[in-house]
Amino acid sequence: MLLAKKIVVSGAVQGVGFRPFVYNIAQQLGVVGEVYNDSAGVVIFVQCTHTQFKQFLFRLKSNTPALATITKIKTKDCQIEKYLDFSIAQSRSGEVATRVLPDASICDDCIDDITDKNNRRYGYPFTNCTHCGPRFSIIKKIPYDRKFTSMACFTMCEKCQQEYQNPNDRRFHAQPNACSNCGPQLQLTNSKGQDIATDKIIAKTATLLKQGKIIAIKGIGGFHLACLADINSAVAMLRKRKHRKHKPFALMAKDLKMVQKYCQVSKAEEVLLSSSVAPIVLLTIKNNTLSSQVAPKQKKLGFMLPYSPLHYLLLQQFDTPLVLTSGNQSHYPQIIDNQQALQELGGIADYFLLHNRDIVNRLDDSVVQVCAENTRLIRRARGYAPTALPFPNGFEEYQGLLAVGAELKNTFCLFTRTNAIVSQHIGDLKTLESYQDFMHNIALYQRLYMTNIQRLACDLHPDYLSSKYADNYAQTNNIKLSTVQHHHAHIAACLFEHGKAIDSEKVLGVVWDGIGLGADNSLWGGEFLLVDYLSFNRLAHFEYTPLLGGDKAQSEPWRMAYMYLKQHKIAADTCFSGKPTAEFDALLKSNLPLNYTSSVGRLFDAVAYLLGICTEKISYEAQAAIELENMANECLTTKRQTAYEFELKKAKNHTHIDIKKLWVAILKDLKNKVKNQDIAYRFHLSLAELLVKTVLQLQQSYTFDTVVLSGGVFHNQLILKLVSELFESIGNITLLTHSKLPCGDGSISLGQSAICIARERKYEQQ
Ligand SMILES: [Zn+2]
Ligand SMILES: [Zn+2]
Repeated sequence: MLLAKKIVVSGAVQGVGFRPFVYNIAQQLGVVGEVYNDSAGVVIFVQCTHTQFKQFLFRLKSNTPALATITKIKTKDCQIEKYLDFSIAQSRSGEVATRVLPDASICDDCIDDITDKNNRRYGYPFTNCTHCGPRFSIIKKIPYDRKFTSMACFTMCEKCQQEYQNPNDRRFHAQPNACSNCGPQLQLTNSKGQDIATDKIIAKTATLLKQGKIIAIKGIGGFHLACLADINSAVAMLRKRKHRKHKPFALMAKDLKMVQKYCQVSKAEEVLLSSSVAPIVLLTIKNNTLSSQVAPKQKKLGFMLPYSPLHYLLLQQFDTPLVLTSGNQSHYPQIIDNQQALQELGGIADYFLLHNRDIVNRLDDSVVQVCAENTRLIRRARGYAPTALPFPNGFEEYQGLLAVGAELKNTFCLFTRTNAIVSQHIGDLKTLESYQDFMHNIALYQRLYMTNIQRLACDLHPDYLSSKYADNYAQTNNIKLSTVQHHHAHIAACLFEHGKAIDSEKVLGVVWDGIGLGADNSLWGGEFLLVDYLSFNRLAHFEYTPLLGGDKAQSEPWRMAYMYLKQHKIAADTCFSGKPTAEFDALLKSNLPLNYTSSVGRLFDAVAYLLGICTEKISYEAQAAIELENMANECLTTKRQTAYEFELKKAKNHTHIDIKKLWVAILKDLKNKVKNQDIAYRFHLSLAELLVKTVLQLQQSYTFDTVVLSGGVFHNQLILKLVSELFESIGNITLLTHSKLPCGDGSISLGQSAICIARERKYEQQ
C-alpha cells in the first residue's frame, strides 16, 4: 500500500547540506516526493511503501551532515499527490522556528581543494562548502539564502552555479559558494589604502610579515592585527602602537604540531582546537621560545588553528605562529569595515590585507579553556553564537522576551517560541561602538527569528547602559520591564544551562565576582544565596568593606588593600608608601556616604597588591587576579600548605564572613619572609576551604543538596579545582558549574530571561 507522509525536521538543518542529504536517501530508496526549506526547518513529502518509509526515517536520523543537528522530527499522514520523482523545491517562508548557524572552520575537503594544484580552487582564499564557511557573520535576514547575505553582490559563474544546483555536489545550495572567477577577492594595500601591486598577494603578505611588519587582516568576524610571534621588535611595536601594555595576544599556528611545540595539549584541548568552532584555547606553556612580549607574565598561551581558507593559506608560509589580536584600538570593539579599518588602524598597521566580502555581523574569536576535562567558556562568540540553548521543562512556548544583560562583557538573550538564544559577546557597552553593536544585534536577532519584543528584563542597576536601553524601550513601546538582581541571574543562568525545570528545588548559589548591585544597594560580589528561578535568599556574604575612588578602586589594587587593612585596624603603612592614603583617611573620617562591597574579585586584587602584583594599576581587566593565580601555581610545596583562618559571624538574618584573621596571617607571612608563591597558594586554598565550610555550615540550617558556582572569580582554575576536590571528598553535594556560557557576566542575560519567565508563569498560575 502506498503511504503519503509529511516530515518536518527541526534543528540546525538549513545551510548544512541537509536537502541533498534527503534527496540522496530518496534516490537510493526509490521514494518519490519533494523536500524544501521553510522557516520551520526542512519539510519533506514522501510517497512510498511502509518498509521504504521506515528505512527513510532510519537513514534520516543516522549519518546526518557534519554541521547539522536534528532536535525534532514530526511526521503526519497527508494526501497522495502526483509525484513522478523526488525533487528539491524552492524555499518557502512561514513560521520561524529554524536556527541560524554559527560560522564553521574550513573542512578537510575544502583544504584538499585549495592545496591541490589541479583543482580549480587551488589557492582560492574564499573556498567553502555546505560543511564549512561563513554563516552568521554574513547573514542579514532569513531564510538563509544567498540573496540575504553579503554574498548577494557576487553572481556565481557557470561552474559554481552547476555545483550549486547539483544535489550530488558538496556545494549544492552552499550559499557563499564562490571561486576565483566569480567570488570575493583579496587586496593588499599600504597603510594609506594604496594598492600594492602583486599577483601573489598571500606570498607578498607573508614576506612583509617576515620582515617584521604589522598587517591588518580582514577575517571572518572582524579585522585582526598580525605580526610574527618570534620577531620581538614587531610584537613590541604592536603593543606600543595599540597601547596594550600587558594583556596577552592570541596566536594562530599552522597546525596542531606547531601548537604542541610551545604548549601542552590534552586530548580534550586537541578536539576543541580542531573543532568547527576553532576557538582560542588557553594552553599551559611547555616551551616558550616566542617573543616575551606575546604574553608577559602568563603561564598560558591562547592558540587557535586557521579557520578560514585565507588563514590556512597564509599560515602555510611560516614555521612560527602568528600573533593575531583583534583589530581595534584598545577598549574598542573589533573593526569589520574596510574603510573604517584604514582610518582607525592606519596608525597601527603597516599594511592591510583586505577583501570585498562584507562582514555583516561582528564576531570576536571565542576563548575557552579546559579545566578538569570540562570546557569553560571565557568569551562566547564566533563559532558558538547564535547556537540556541534547549528549554528546560516549563520554559517552552514563551514568545518575544528580550533580556539585555549586564554592562560589561555584555550579551543579550532573546526567547522565541522555540529557542533561547544568547547573543555573541558584545563587550563593554560604555564604548559607543559596542553600544551601537548591541542595538544592531538586537534588531538583527529580531529579524532573524521574526520575533517582536513583548517583554523585557534588565539588571537591577538602573545606571547600566543596558538597563537604560531597556527602560527607554519599555516606555516607548509600552512593554513591561522586569528588573533582576545580578547574582540571582548568575545562578539562574547556570540552572538553565543544566536543564533544571522551572519549578526545580532550591539550590545554594555561590556567586563570587567583581561587583553587582545588591538588593540593599550595596555592591555585592561574595554571595551565598539560596536560590530558585523565582527568588533568592541571601544566607551569607563576605563582610562589607568601603570602596573608595569609584572606578579607580578597580584599576588600582592598592586602594582595596588599604581599605581592608584599615577596616580591620591592621597597621601596615609601610605597604603603602608613596600612595595618597591621606585622602582616604579624610574621606573615612568625614560623614560622606560611602559605597560598601562584599566583592571577592576586589579581595583578590588586594591580596595581589600585597604580594607585589600590579602595584601601580592594572592594564586589563582581572590582571591582578590572573597574575595572583599564576603566582600560586608556582608554589612548589602545595602539599605542606595550610589554609588561613576566617570566622563566620551571625548577623540579623544572615551570616557575615569575617576575614580579619586571614589578613593578619598574610601580613605575618610577609613579615616572616614566606615566599610570595606560597602565600598566594595559601590564599587560594583558604578561599576554597572557606567556600566549602560555609556551605556545610549553611546546610545545617537550610535544605539543599546542590551547590552552583558562578561569577567571574571562577575563571580561576586553581580555585575551581580546589573547591571541586573538597566537595568530591565530602560526597553528598552535587556541584554545578557553567560549561555552555561563561561564568562571568556573559551569562547574566540568560539568567534574567529565566527569572522573568518563572515569575510571570508563577503569577499566571495564582
Ligand atoms: Zn568545506
Ligand atoms: Zn565561480
